[in-house]
Amino acid sequence: LAQLFRPLDLLGMVYRTIRQGLIDMTAMFDLIDTAAEVVDAPGALPLAVTAGAVRFDDVHFGYDADREILKGISFAIPPGGTLAVVGPSGAGKSTLARLLYRFYDPTAGRILIDGQDISAVTQASLRAAIGIVPQDTVLFNDTIGYNIAYGRAGADQAAVEQAAAGAAIADFITSLPDGYAARVGERGLKLSGGEKQRVAIARTLLKNPPLLILDEATSALDSRTEAEIQATLKTVERGRTTVVIAHRLSTIADADEIIVLDTGRIVERGTHASLLRQAGLYAEMWQRQQAEAETVPA
Ligand code: ADP
Ligand code: MG
Repeated sequence: LAQLFRPLDLLGMVYRTIRQGLIDMTAMFDLIDTAAEVVDAPGALPLAVTAGAVRFDDVHFGYDADREILKGISFAIPPGGTLAVVGPSGAGKSTLARLLYRFYDPTAGRILIDGQDISAVTQASLRAAIGIVPQDTVLFNDTIGYNIAYGRAGADQAAVEQAAAGAAIADFITSLPDGYAARVGERGLKLSGGEKQRVAIARTLLKNPPLLILDEATSALDSRTEAEIQATLKTVERGRTTVVIAHRLSTIADADEIIVLDTGRIVERGTHASLLRQAGLYAEMWQRQQAEAETVPA
């Protein structure tokens, strides 16, 4: 009987792992208990990504009925454009990203991709169109090759190696005694934060989605690794509509639009230059980070 249950357990675990890819481990346990499952609408059609325009239209959301987390979020990202989301911890940045991936449905308002309400399309087609490079990449207890190939079912070795090269992790892998067959995860080789993030980037390159969500969180990495990952991410962003949640503002100064989120509301918005001129929360965060960068040797 235990044999019979194991695959089900595993599926559930994988699903939850993916679902929480955008959040930290502590929040995961709450999530397992509280998340309402979203389901495909009857007769849902696949999402047709034609250009890759993303729109949030007065989106409201709360995990619990008595506490609203997002309080009327509106923005439009043009095809191939980049929206950066910044703001204090707990502001609702990761929640916004989870709604775009449809881990949850808004309580009011709409999210549109190329004019199609994402709650009306099949979840499989939506998730096939979006790549996520999460804060905390969870690796499967399998080979590093498998962990990359997971980005696209049926990918051949050449494609896996090309993706690894694009994510600047190919040299590291070929230096391992077992190469792509090296086992990673809890029972295998322990990868550093930067290496895990590169695996996630390689997965995403293989998936080649028109839409991208980046939850940077590179603050845990040393500054050299962070700079290298940043450079890699910039190349992944090219030609894809991107939502980037940024902790270090210097990484998103070139975004088409930056929204500053505070307790679920957009309190400032604009380009980097216009936000600095507004001399508000963004400018204050920017100045604080600039001062820190000067005192911390690279
Ligand atoms: P940020 O990414 O800006 O730090 P989050 O979107 O993770 O913020 O969280 C916004 C708010 O929602 C926080 O107050 C957080 O505690 C709450 N929250 C996040 N995830 C859950 C959850 N699964 N269940 C209940 N509340 C949650
Ligand atoms: Mg977050």
